[in-house]
Amino acid sequence: MTKRALITGITGQDGAFLSKLLLEKGYEVYGTCRPNSSPINWRLKELGVFEQVHMVPLELFEYSNIIKTVDTVRPDEIYNLGAQSFVSSSFDQPIYTSEVNAIGVLRLLEVIRNVNSDIKFYQASTSELYGKAQESPQTENTRFYPRSPYSVAKQFAHSITINYREAYNLHASAGILFNHESELRGTEFVTRKITSSLAMIWHNKLDVLELGNINIERDWGYAKDYVCAMWKMLQQKVPGEFVIATGKSHTLREFISIAADTIGFKLEWSGEGTDEFAIEKSTGKKIIKINEKYFRLTDVDRIVGDPKNANEVLKWKPTVTFEELVHIMAKTDYDRVKNDKLLI
Ligand code: NDP
Repeated sequence: MTKRALITGITGQDGAFLSKLLLEKGYEVYGTCRPNSSPINWRLKELGVFEQVHMVPLELFEYSNIIKTVDTVRPDEIYNLGAQSFVSSSFDQPIYTSEVNAIGVLRLLEVIRNVNSDIKFYQASTSELYGKAQESPQTENTRFYPRSPYSVAKQFAHSITINYREAYNLHASAGILFNHESELRGTEFVTRKITSSLAMIWHNKLDVLELGNINIERDWGYAKDYVCAMWKMLQQKVPGEFVIATGKSHTLREFISIAADTIGFKLEWSGEGTDEFAIEKSTGKKIIKINEKYFRLTDVDRIVGDPKNANEVLKWKPTVTFEELVHIMAKTDYDRVKNDKLLI
């Protein structure tokens, strides 16, 4: 029988890649968009899957609306990717973020428990849970130390997923995914802000790129690889938690350097701290500068994941290197700007 998946947050980066993967595997795919808002469909269209997915209304704020949608769709698997996913915004909207990212997950689990406890559930947990990392590399057993309202809410979601599995015997898993990026990432996120802005500067559509702390270190992978791990988790006999990461960390400065190189810039850095800036060597023009307003109130300095458990149990491995990832993103944005395609 054809399997049916319901994806919350289908309009986001991971939702689009996951839809494509599940359609290729023969699933019937239902995706949620918030009632009374026009769905952002460009990612699904870019992957050529928009016509094949069924859009249904769902707002993580509203229990009755979730129950209605789950009751109508009758999914075999639910992937909960919907979230207020921008860490910086969570400092401005801590209550909204907690309502969606924490209590929204509890609402979904309650619906599963009441409608059909055989539905398999995936929760999008995050490496931001490690925050001020207590050991390195981080595993499924490393103590969490979240450093933003976003990650505190995600910690509740992570724990309640485990609690519902143990209390009600649900097949509920959580993927602790380290940063994963792609050409479908939103431009509000720093990696895509870098590639899209550098492409615009090259094509004379922007003067300067302003950034916050460029010395942070993250474990960056390619989103298309990471959605395979989500699916694999729900195919296991035994649900669980899995760190999904490459096992290698890089600074944001390295990301900038590879992106600039791919686009054609030769950068030269000067100054220190918030006075640091980069010029393009051939013209002497300042094209990158640091602006204090982009620093987080409490940040995560260095995180790197240990994906051993996922390698062994899920047989999952990343296929795209850090350098390849930056090339894909920078090249795609270069072409988009060159061809006057809308940058979203
Ligand atoms: P995106 O920001 O690209 O997508 C977020 C999705 O959530 C959008 O489809 C958005 O819909 C939806 N959404 C927002 N608020 C609500 C709400 N109140 N009710 C229902 N849906 C809502 O995120 P990603 O695809 O990058 O990430 C997917 C998930 O994985 C998120 O939960 C994120 O926190 C988590 N994660 C991501 C990581 C990454 O590096 N990308 C790392 C670890 C975890 P709309 O279009 O209407 O705004």
